[in-house]
Amino acid sequence: MKLAFFGAARQVTGSCYYVETNGLKVVVDGGLHQERPFLERNWAPLPVPARDLDVILLTHAHLDHSGLLPKIVREGFSGTILTTAATADILAIALMDSAKIQEEDAAFKKKRHQKEGRTGRHPEVPLYTTEDVQATMPLVEEAAYEESLSLGRGVTVRFRDAGHILGSAMVELRVSDNGNLRTVVFSGDIGQWDMPFVNDPSVFERADYVVMESTYGDRDHEDPGRVEELLGGVIRDTAQAGGNVVIPTFAIERAQDLMFHLSRLVRTKAIPPMSVYLDSPMAREVTEAFERHDEFLDEEARKLFASGENPFRFPGLVIVRTPEESKAINTARGPTVIMAGSGMCTGGRIKHHLALNIARPESTILFVGYQARDTLGRQILEKAPQVRILGQLLPVRARVAKINGFSAHADRKALARWLDAYRTPPRRLFVTHGDADVARNMAERIRRERRWTVEVPEYLEVWDLD
Ligand SMILES: [Zn+2]
Repeated sequence: MKLAFFGAARQVTGSCYYVETNGLKVVVDGGLHQERPFLERNWAPLPVPARDLDVILLTHAHLDHSGLLPKIVREGFSGTILTTAATADILAIALMDSAKIQEEDAAFKKKRHQKEGRTGRHPEVPLYTTEDVQATMPLVEEAAYEESLSLGRGVTVRFRDAGHILGSAMVELRVSDNGNLRTVVFSGDIGQWDMPFVNDPSVFERADYVVMESTYGDRDHEDPGRVEELLGGVIRDTAQAGGNVVIPTFAIERAQDLMFHLSRLVRTKAIPPMSVYLDSPMAREVTEAFERHDEFLDEEARKLFASGENPFRFPGLVIVRTPEESKAINTARGPTVIMAGSGMCTGGRIKHHLALNIARPESTILFVGYQARDTLGRQILEKAPQVRILGQLLPVRARVAKINGFSAHADRKALARWLDAYRTPPRRLFVTHGDADVARNMAERIRRERRWTVEVPEYLEVWDLD
């Protein structure tokens, strides 16, 4: 059995793993590379011919796991993309949004470069288009949690709830290879225990090989029980200063989690009455998907909806529907909370809100999600004196705040809890999906504390597993 790492190797984004066994060719995830130094990886063809692949297993709809699928389809993939029903629903929204952003960014860049009389480092054409997405979605087939499905040639797959975002899964492959039965677990993104909306992450008691994420491998989050209090504090302080709270928001799960907490802050009058904008077409659509797939929600969330306290409808909340409504936020009076995508400020409407607020000392840029190295979000978070937004160099004068407890990712403690469930050490653990130093530190700690065999694979590294 061959295992190769086509992404998320010493980087947080670009999840894409390749398994070849008994002539069956499987890819787990096809994610966008979002860190600036690795963007060119998006333009390289898949290292194996896409037309030769049999199946793609998709852990969840986040773009760093799914955002290259339309390109893989354009390269000739015509097999099945297997994933859960909620992921399939959110995937259609996420990919369409991604294609539109790619098309808009390419057009915008082209215009800017023409004006400046220069050519950019990357091609001014979209990576893929909405037509490519339309060709991708018919390939998607649904897999239920906990069901074993045959992929043929002695390989079965089981999707298990990852507790990360709605519909997210861990993927377990059972392979009969040269008479040996081997189990390979791909953790996908591991969720936190006790989060709104989603169930707790599944755990495994045994596996021969494990490919595990390490996003927060070296840090613990703030107590998730305190995020609401911290959020309320930031909003009250900023409102008092007369500024806006601008929150770069991941459309999937984070926007809904924010609304969950904001609805409670509003209903308990912990913050003054104010306008709260969700300015993200994608977040709006994903919110509707949450309402469609209540079978994926945890028991607590189902009870909340049943009681009539819908966290997606509260006084002051404006879910923006048109670009005109989005522009109207700029002239809104009084303090406001603006949630907009993308979550790492790499594209989308957040850039416009940042451009208008980043030089205002009375406003706050509030980060509630992971900011990968070399993204605009990370630059702001690390308080670069000035940043480039939409071609303008702007000083960072706004307050910059961060609340970690929102994370849909397991922190160091939760990752350890996930590992604790294994009754016996896997033959080999591959640590992926983390900044290089974080992944290395986590690997080192697991070797030291558990005496497991741990690898931190490099981009395009290939392993022959026995
Ligand atoms: Zn994710």
